[in-house]
Amino acid sequence: MPYALVLNSGSSSIKFQLVNPLAAATEKPFVVGVVEQIGEPQGAVTLKTQEGTFAVEQEIPDHTAGLQLAFELMDKHNCGPRQVDVIACGHRVVHGGILFSAPELINDQILDMIRDLIPLAPLHNPANIAGIEVAREILPDIPHVAVFDTGFFHTLPPAAAIYPINKDVAADYSLRRYGFHGTSHEYVSQQVPDLLGLPPAAVNQITLHLGNGASAAAIRGGLAVDTSMGLTPLAGLAMGTRSGDIDPGIVFHLYRNGMSIDEIDNLLNKKSGVKGLAGVNDFRALRDMIRDENEDAWTAYNVYIHQLRRYIGAYMVSLGRVNAITFTAGVGENDSHVRADALAGMETYGVKIDADRNAGPNDGPREISTDDSAVKVFVVPTNEELAIARYAVAFAQ
Ligand code: ADP
Repeated sequence: MPYALVLNSGSSSIKFQLVNPLAAATEKPFVVGVVEQIGEPQGAVTLKTQEGTFAVEQEIPDHTAGLQLAFELMDKHNCGPRQVDVIACGHRVVHGGILFSAPELINDQILDMIRDLIPLAPLHNPANIAGIEVAREILPDIPHVAVFDTGFFHTLPPAAAIYPINKDVAADYSLRRYGFHGTSHEYVSQQVPDLLGLPPAAVNQITLHLGNGASAAAIRGGLAVDTSMGLTPLAGLAMGTRSGDIDPGIVFHLYRNGMSIDEIDNLLNKKSGVKGLAGVNDFRALRDMIRDENEDAWTAYNVYIHQLRRYIGAYMVSLGRVNAITFTAGVGENDSHVRADALAGMETYGVKIDADRNAGPNDGPREISTDDSAVKVFVVPTNEELAIARYAVAFAQ
């Protein structure tokens, strides 16, 4: 059976999966693994296969050593590229700028273009490039395909993409709304027309990707027309550790009062959002704290929901007519309270949640609105790795 290797390479970790591109969305991948703490004195590779979970701990100096170790561990457990038919490798690339609107077969020129985008994603793109370089060296005979987080949002109309900032400065610094989580919004939104029994061109929809990072998207006839994330993935909804939208003046205020730019960056990306308000970023822990009537947890939750409702409201108005609202990712798929609170009291706008359906198990795409709800509400599990695997193997045929 042909498989795709899917790589998500970060600055100190590489997440990898061997995926059967023909698998059902809910099927477990053949292999799931992660290389962690690259560059630290004690690194680790963990592998989950159908036979069990395996790990090696040792120093992993760089991405090359990390991926090699991952392949050795896969070989040892009979699921490596030498035993399994790996026909393509898909790479998650965070920033495609305005250059990339669709997955791209990687060659030296494409790699240079991704390198040129480093100023837009200084933390992410270099790590993505490191993963691509290593994987091309180790697996030189298969197509390597870059799948961009920004690609799906290439269709944003100018009014949604352009920031009201001096246009020459915006041009000099490539400032515009790019959007992220595109693979997930696209994958999930493509399933909605079938759930509605309508042709894709007739469907206006809102997708809510609520994971640790979170974003909303407005989609008209399959094309993204608005999204909550911006030049970077810091904008928009309140998230696990990111602030989402704040008054940009806060940045100057903190800077002028003694914080360095790196400290502010760290504050807004890693120590804000739900974590900044309640001390935890996992919604299961937040829910336990709410049950114990912890006041900070309530505040964090209310801020999170408030922000989410603002975007839903804005997109309902900008789309004009909405056929469906869809929740996805860790929080969106699993937390029925978030879904109920995000849409509470919207009956006048045609949105009615069915409490029993909403409380049902997360076992595939499902409707959670009432039969007479004019706007249908769905939970559709996302599977970015499967989407990337499918894009990648398309270049192998
Ligand atoms: P990401 O890919 O952004 O890291 P995920 O989509 O995997 O995130 O979502 C991770 C988040 O999902 C966790 O931080 C947690 O808040 C939330 N989550 C996962 N499972 C549950 C659950 N059963 N109930 C509520 N929240 C959950």
